[in-house]
Amino acid sequence: MPDSEEGIRTGGDPTKAILSESGLNSKHLCDYVVNVATGCRHGCKFCYVPSTPNIRARPDMLKEAADVDNGQKEWGNYVLYRDGLGEKLDAHLDRKRTWHETDRGQGVVGVSFSTDCYMDGRAGKITRNVVKALTSHNKYTRVLTRNPILALQDLDVFQKAGEYVTIGSSIPCMDADQVGAIEPSAPAPELRLRGLKEFNEHGVQTFVSMSPTYPTQDKAALRTQLERVAECDPAVVFHEPINPRGGNFEMTVEAAQEAEEHELADALDELRTRDRWVEYATNHLRWVQEIGRELDLPVHLWPDKQLIKHVDDETGLWLQSWRERQSPEKFAEREMPTQTEPAYPTNSV
Ligand code: SF4
Repeated sequence: MPDSEEGIRTGGDPTKAILSESGLNSKHLCDYVVNVATGCRHGCKFCYVPSTPNIRARPDMLKEAADVDNGQKEWGNYVLYRDGLGEKLDAHLDRKRTWHETDRGQGVVGVSFSTDCYMDGRAGKITRNVVKALTSHNKYTRVLTRNPILALQDLDVFQKAGEYVTIGSSIPCMDADQVGAIEPSAPAPELRLRGLKEFNEHGVQTFVSMSPTYPTQDKAALRTQLERVAECDPAVVFHEPINPRGGNFEMTVEAAQEAEEHELADALDELRTRDRWVEYATNHLRWVQEIGRELDLPVHLWPDKQLIKHVDDETGLWLQSWRERQSPEKFAEREMPTQTEPAYPTNSV
């Protein structure tokens, strides 16, 4: 029977897969993923996960485990936990003889990219054992969470894992009200940064994902954000603009309106016009590259394929070079980029 606490329905997750190969190597993140739960209590409005087959194709499982009628509409209101996953993963790794490694993914395991592995104490307990299992088998492990403050409870595990672990957080914008409007249940950006700083001060490698930056941010705001992000000495700062073609974009704009963040709602709404989206996205990518260089931060841009189709040839070459360039993150024996940073076009703003 499903349980319910703080309006969130919870249950056990019957998923059998322990470790899955992942396409996130295209973003230089990992070759495998482990997810400690199905569902996520942060309920970010732009989240792509509820539109993936893992949610869309499993209505019966969601209904049975957590009384979910519509996995997409109810996103943020249910969590199915994979208790005991760390122990199963440990045994699985003992038996596993082959390991998939690409140039971009480096055989890294991502924990967790379809939920937040430190969204609460129960998820955190599973994550602790997952990180232990992976790193004790010398598997490079990338932990992504919007709650690194809670992850600090496992600082001992991260410190023991040494070079085999990095922890990062999504910090799309430093404006807590705007972030709170579309990530209603996730910790404030200041807390995310504070958690990462503490990990860094205790010798644990960090990374930041500025994803997605908001159209309300001008160049000065991005500079302030990058200066703040530098405080946790990240091994890499990934960046991508928001994509208004995502299935949940409508909900994102509505959430900003409901939270009375009108400037954000209007700026997001304007992105439905292609020219405005192209202008905002190319400006943000260029500004992050430019400021990153000034601050000597290892930045890696994630330009969208669709964006490249709608820009002039020179801009397209610049963006495509970023898609092909190795990430500058010193982690998992990654070779550093051999090419210099792609030069942005002289005709851009
Ligand atoms: S924390 Fe990540 S997985 Fe959870 S709702 Fe937000 S974007 Fe989706």
